[in-house]
Amino acid sequence: MAAIHILPEQLVNQIAAGEVIERPASVVKELLENAVDAQAARVTLELEEAGKKLIRVSDDGGGIPAAEAPLALASHATNKIASTEDLEGITTLGFRGEALASIASVADVRLVTRTADALEATEVAVSGSQAAPPRPTGGPVGTSVEVRNLFRYVPARRKFLKTDATEMGHITEQVARVALAYPAVHLTVTHNGRAVYELPPSDSVRARVGAFFGSDLADALVEAASEEPAGRLWGLIGPPHLARATTAAQYLFINGRYVRDRGLLHALREAYRGLLEGARQPVAFLFLTVPPDRVDVNVHPTKIEVRLRDAHLLYGQVLAAVREKLLGPGLTPHVAVPGVAPAADATGLVPPGAAEAGPGEALDHESRVRQAVADFLRSPQAAQARLGFSGRESAARGAPPSFNRAGAEHPPYTADAPVVGARHAEDSTGRAVPLESEAETVSQHAPPPAPRAIQIHNTYLVAETPDGILIVDQHALHERVLFEEIMARLEAGPLESQRLLLPVVLALSDREMAAVETHREALARLGIDVERMGPRDAGIQAFPMLLERADPASTLRDFLAWVLATESPPTARQVLENLAHVAACRAAVKAGDPLKAEEIEALLAHREAARMASTCPHGRPTALVLRKSDLEKQFGRNYAAPRAAKADEPLPF
Ligand code: ADP
Ligand code: MG
Repeated sequence: MAAIHILPEQLVNQIAAGEVIERPASVVKELLENAVDAQAARVTLELEEAGKKLIRVSDDGGGIPAAEAPLALASHATNKIASTEDLEGITTLGFRGEALASIASVADVRLVTRTADALEATEVAVSGSQAAPPRPTGGPVGTSVEVRNLFRYVPARRKFLKTDATEMGHITEQVARVALAYPAVHLTVTHNGRAVYELPPSDSVRARVGAFFGSDLADALVEAASEEPAGRLWGLIGPPHLARATTAAQYLFINGRYVRDRGLLHALREAYRGLLEGARQPVAFLFLTVPPDRVDVNVHPTKIEVRLRDAHLLYGQVLAAVREKLLGPGLTPHVAVPGVAPAADATGLVPPGAAEAGPGEALDHESRVRQAVADFLRSPQAAQARLGFSGRESAARGAPPSFNRAGAEHPPYTADAPVVGARHAEDSTGRAVPLESEAETVSQHAPPPAPRAIQIHNTYLVAETPDGILIVDQHALHERVLFEEIMARLEAGPLESQRLLLPVVLALSDREMAAVETHREALARLGIDVERMGPRDAGIQAFPMLLERADPASTLRDFLAWVLATESPPTARQVLENLAHVAACRAAVKAGDPLKAEEIEALLAHREAARMASTCPHGRPTALVLRKSDLEKQFGRNYAAPRAAKADEPLPF
């Protein structure tokens, strides 16, 4: 072994670079962050060969005084902190003073900079740790850093570089993070001389989302915000039906810094609980602003992870703000009418409140009704009593629930059938009762009236709303309503079940049989009693009354298929939710089922009552809205009709 010795500076820097500079995108990140820290309004990124040959970032920020320029490339040199106290309240993106030195140890770097009061610019260059003396040169106010031949001095690293397309993908991701956090900065990106991004300054994050993720996604996002208790949260979140297979469209920024915080991302996912299918991941762009001393950024070399002093408060804040938005009214996607430009608010969603809804008495009324429903649902007791189709209590005593359609004899509801408008529902004995009186017994809030509706193609319910036309997928909505009811009831205890006259016997595989054993308790909570009847036979002995319409065998099979497909063992909550999903799906009316007038009405009345009426448990939308204003545009009602020529007027041609 050699004697202990101090390592040469370049080697020290190369080791430091090993942590931070992994690929061209890492250089791009550091240079863009330096430009932001220098308060640049305009930043240009030029790339050649995906940054392997050249990365140049030029900004119009404050620049570096000529005398300090050589220090910028030295290790542990920074103007962003000076003392230990400063470390506890970082307000800049950088502070370690290591990035440029690290980069200069693995590539050829040239920096040209000029402050506003300097007559000329200064150039400093480092090539293989050989620093050229600073020299005056021409150049605008600001800084330009050029990085050539990345990893020229560490060939091992160079071998790990991927194709240009892959490296460009990583670079784009880094550009997106800065662009999203600083929409006011004008960003230009070119690759091999061709323009890749031209992002003019904007006060809207949505515009930047549109640039990177497409305007369809950007337009569909809704705002979530909260001011308490740990800081300011503002974000754009995707409705559940936009969920993706990966977490790639989840962006979290804390004080302008992109971070991956497992806790807060978990809170985000939790907010979508029950609204997403399987492992689907929400789309969200969240911006948190907290006092700088509440976040420690000095825990990770690239600062992608931070330590939050109020982690649990922030967790709750993110969860509550996002959940509230998702459970709130108005997550009904609009029908895109061909040729009609999206409305000014362009959220793609029904505006959730009068403030955002713009002018219009009708809409105000609708928001008030929605608010009443939301208030109504905040009282769990009332919600318990209101959820479901009817007569649960009496169903428990053996009377058929009014929404049990088995064997119902009635003509299919068609477009020329009478329009449903009367506000009544069936009670457990089949007697029509006004909805209002039923509501009075549980809450003083008025329940929403069921909109006037017809069924078409035995699949969709079409109803008039104050500002347009609502089209509901009957299966998706019923499934959502049942799911919510099952989940609400499970809070109170196991579902009431009914012994079957004859057990329903299923032949199961060994794995399926094992899954039945493992989840026997969860099944029992749902009111499904399964007993082993032989080495490979299981018998369903009892089934929940609430799910009368569901076929017991298919429900169990759907559940087992899910259990066997999940990779890691599901949590108890996931098991219950999945059971509720499959049961709700199996018990819901299907596309193609003709519905009676009262059934249509009952279903639509519950559209408002179901907390998440906007999506079925699988995340598909349950309803679409065709806005009156869009129809008017489509029919040309908004435009001044060409004046008919009078008989005595000469024709204009
Ligand atoms: P850090 O950003 O952590 O301070 P860097 O190595 O990235 O460290 O940069 C070192 C110093 O060089 C910075 O502290 C800053 O003073 C100066 N600097 C780097 N880039 C710029 C720039 N684009 N504009 C102005 N000053 C810069
Ligand atoms: Mg820096």
